[in-house]
Amino acid sequence: MVNADEIGAGIGLPPNAVRILKQLACDLKELDCVAYEGVVTFFLNGTEGLPQTLDKIPERFGEAWFLCHRVDLHAALKRLAFSKEPGTEGHGPPAILHLGKKVVDYNSTSGTITLDGGIIQRADLIIAADGIHSACRTILLGDIGRPTPSAIAAYRWMVDTTIIKQHPELDWVTAGPSGP
Ligand SMILES: Cc1cc2nc3c(=O)[nH]c(=O)nc-3n(C[C@H](O)[C@H](O)[C@H](O)COP(=O)(O)OP(=O)(O)OC[C@H]3O[C@@H](n4cnc5c(N)ncnc54)[C@H](O)[C@@H]3O)c2cc1C
Repeated sequence: MVNADEIGAGIGLPPNAVRILKQLACDLKELDCVAYEGVVTFFLNGTEGLPQTLDKIPERFGEAWFLCHRVDLHAALKRLAFSKEPGTEGHGPPAILHLGKKVVDYNSTSGTITLDGGIIQRADLIIAADGIHSACRTILLGDIGRPTPSAIAAYRWMVDTTIIKQHPELDWVTAGPSGP
């Protein structure tokens, strides 16, 4: 099944992202975000690593640094792109999303893309946001090198805060940051 819904956990909204979201008239309160105030790292043996504190971000970078849930951000962006409600439109007509269409060829001379199945679409501007393994990049620029694994792995998971709150020694995890 193909759908346009997001899954996953948190996503960082650094000051530049916040600036762009505001320009798009995205209501940050809708995102239910919290201020990113730093990270605490632990080594495998349980000892604490160097804390990274993010002081005075708005003063230094002009906007705050927030964290929100991916699903909320995705839903807000979809609303901005597709909404026909008065007061929520961006510039021009609402966007139309065609799901399950694979682009198999790009032609920068004719300004066309070819979809799986042979349909050719033309546009004045084509933006290929097709990810780290971009087919467009290879088709238009040739094999200019592939992403190489960094050999660093990161794991993450979500924990229900009602469980964390049963452990007073973990109060610091849930206390603190405020939203926009
Ligand atoms: C676990 C994890 C956590 C992350 N956390 C953060 C974070 O907190 N903050 C942050 O800023 N970034 C984060 N990132 C990185 C972020 O997700 C990526 O940088 C971002 O998704 C890249 O966006 P993109 O649009 O370039 O590509 P993608 O998100 O990969 O999107 C590419 C899209 O193109 C489609 N596509 C590909 N080929 C074709 C084709 N031939 N035809 C049609 N469609 C095609 C794909 O289906 C996909 O939907 C995280 C990444 C991971 C894996």
